[in-house]
Amino acid sequence: MEERLNFRNDLVDLPEFKVSDIKCKIKLDQNESPFRLPKRLRHHVLNLLKEKYSENLYPQPTDFFDKKKKVAEFLNIDPRRLTITAGADQGILGIMMISKEKVKLLDPSYPIYRNDAIVLKKKIDLAKLDEEDNFKITTEKIGKGYNFVGLLSPNQPVGNLIDDKVVAEACKNNDIVLMDEAYYEYSGKTYLNFQKEYKNLVILRTFSKAGSLAGLRLGYLIGDEGIISAVEKVLFTPYNISLMHFALLDNFEEIYGWGLEFGKRIRKIRDDFYNFLISSGFKAYESKGNFVLFKGRKKLYDDLLSNGIKTRYMNIHNKDYIRITIGRKDEMEVVKKQLTI
Ligand code: PMP
Repeated sequence: MEERLNFRNDLVDLPEFKVSDIKCKIKLDQNESPFRLPKRLRHHVLNLLKEKYSENLYPQPTDFFDKKKKVAEFLNIDPRRLTITAGADQGILGIMMISKEKVKLLDPSYPIYRNDAIVLKKKIDLAKLDEEDNFKITTEKIGKGYNFVGLLSPNQPVGNLIDDKVVAEACKNNDIVLMDEAYYEYSGKTYLNFQKEYKNLVILRTFSKAGSLAGLRLGYLIGDEGIISAVEKVLFTPYNISLMHFALLDNFEEIYGWGLEFGKRIRKIRDDFYNFLISSGFKAYESKGNFVLFKGRKKLYDDLLSNGIKTRYMNIHNKDYIRITIGRKDEMEVVKKQLTI
């Protein structure tokens, strides 16, 4: 019989999102938190799943709205301006699905933006950020007239913030502007207050980083009521998330507080590590995230890996870089020693 393996072959060229699965002693390659949630909180969430929620039933829209109300109250926003997603990744996909064709993305930045744009057949323009200018994001680079602009502050993998003026101009000059605040707890800087003036600005957050919940995929979007409602339609909310998310949302305040506290703790280790790199003669980029990017060859990445330290090797505009997630203090001491050899 004739085979009907007929599907989009343009996706063959889609860049793969590869992470090495080589075993290591110190895992500093995916910007995760090195700590688990406090045991008491973990048990509480699991107990809710056992006792309060029935896994044989779907998440119900009315229950979902109640959860949103509680979270929104805590964040001091209208619940209709909030939606919950399975990780920030799903938020990025949802917001891009409702955007029109012309998109502008930062280069370098988090690769999923480009992947989603390719999958959704967008017309993509890249704002190529200059290494000589420390990958600075400017109004000229962002440009005008786009249906979607993906901004990240701090940008990833560099770690730099975007000037307020540049964000304001981006909102004035374009349609939907997504501000990715995945590393907000490490930077302490948010653009939430900009939404009063710029209705087209959408804020993206996640609990995967400082929130220490990467494996449970909890993220959220805050934006204009109409935009959020459209995103919920395309993602089929609340069926895009699970009762595990509900149990987590029942503990939103506490998890949020834990993330903020942890984010603050990491900042000092990060700044110390950056200073170490600079004083050791590396070209490093000042970061407001939980990672630091520096110039380093693949050989250095391999050496670190063979000593049990997994980092991320990156080729940006044909140059070699290493991005290293900031781990515990003791882990960073091991890294420093290895880099001094
Ligand atoms: N945005 C940025 C900038 C990220 O680095 C990541 C994770 N690598 C995400 C979004 C996605 O996070 P999540 O795990 O919540 O999908």
